[in-house]
Amino acid sequence: MHCNFCNIIKKEANALVVWENREFLLFLDIKPINPGHLLLIPKKHIGDVFLLEERTYVRLFKKVKQIAAIVKKNMKAPRVGIAIEGFGVPHAHVHIVPVYKGNELNPLKAKCISEKKMTNINNLFVGSFNGMG
Ligand SMILES: [Zn+2]
Repeated sequence: MHCNFCNIIKKEANALVVWENREFLLFLDIKPINPGHLLLIPKKHIGDVFLLEERTYVRLFKKVKQIAAIVKKNMKAPRVGIAIEGFGVPHAHVHIVPVYKGNELNPLKAKCISEKKMTNINNLFVGSFNGMG
């Protein structure tokens, strides 16, 4: 079965991974709505966030809360939006997006940014998530 996110987990596909533990992986979305847009995924392949086993689901959202605080601080964003749809890649994922005004959490606004800009954003996050466990 081909799954882009499983390939990232297996290091067979490139991604700017900013944090991981044994259960979850956090990386920069290659097509951000705003710079600093992250994707949090479980390492075990499951098609939908809402199919996660209850305890894993709770742990996932505890991570979302920790990550949102760090994104808010690092990106100087007044708010952090989260979104779950799952039409693009059939592997459970949560979008975590710094937002600066209303209605920005819109997938139509997602666009690729330069590799240099991605690297700069990645550098802003380096080490920031180390305390998350
Ligand atoms: Zn997968």
